[in-house]
Amino acid sequence: MEFRDKIAVVTGASRGIGAATARAFAQQGGIVFANYPDHDADQHREMIHAWVSDAELDAERVIPIAADVSDAIRVQAMYAEIGDRCGRVDILINNAGINRDHTVIKMTDDEWRQVLAVNLDGTFFNCRAALPLLSDGGRIVNISSVVAHTGNMGVANYAASKAGILGLTKTLALELAGRNITVNAVCPGFVNTEMAQTVPPDILERLRQRVPLKRLADVEEVVACTLFLASAAASYVTGHSLNVNGGMHMM
Ligand code: NAD
Repeated sequence: MEFRDKIAVVTGASRGIGAATARAFAQQGGIVFANYPDHDADQHREMIHAWVSDAELDAERVIPIAADVSDAIRVQAMYAEIGDRCGRVDILINNAGINRDHTVIKMTDDEWRQVLAVNLDGTFFNCRAALPLLSDGGRIVNISSVVAHTGNMGVANYAASKAGILGLTKTLALELAGRNITVNAVCPGFVNTEMAQTVPPDILERLRQRVPLKRLADVEEVVACTLFLASAAASYVTGHSLNVNGGMHMM
């Protein structure tokens, strides 16, 4: 896939799936605004510098940019800066996400609100603020999750946020079709990120057994699907949610 001189914004790009997605855009000729949160900003910016350096990327192709995605004013300011620097956005990847797991009976108001604020409000704020800059024929890809379809124990806040993203995706796909902008979602299952590596081996094994393909996804397998939806090849795909979860959406 070719993204020569396309301007992409990837939220939550300091590590994990977001970092790998931003890196892939830059490797394929794009210019990427790599968003990171305002809290622990120095640490997140350093993480971005580290993956840029490890991948031996041209530093001018990856522009770290801070904004807490749950803060509408900070998100607006981020796009004002992007507009000043580049004048447009071609691709928006809403990747930033958090989880605060508890069963519903134990879930606090804060746990509910924080997850909805980052995952769902953050996706909405980025879409809304990016729209005036988004070029006709542009792309939005929202990172949802298999639990948007299936639910899961202890993740009511997360599953609700990810299901909300699917409703937002389809509505925005209709609203933007006239500008030939496609809006799609990716629904990963268990991905082998830093987060998975902290799970105790016996629990990880039980999770693996629940996946029809009997393994976790490599980050690159999620990135490939995101890049496909962001590419010219997916020009007739919109309002779709692509399951990248080894068949878990059928369980
Ligand atoms: P991660 O925790 O490694 O990365 C999340 C990124 O989001 C980090 O860079 C973090 O700094 C950023 N972030 C968090 N809060 C933010 C905020 N308020 N503003 C800006 N950035 C913020 O997680 P990951 O595994 O790479 O997950 C990436 C996306 O994929 C998330 O939306 C997650 O829900 C989704 N997902 C992950 C899995 C999985 O198994 N890892 C499965 C399904 C879906």
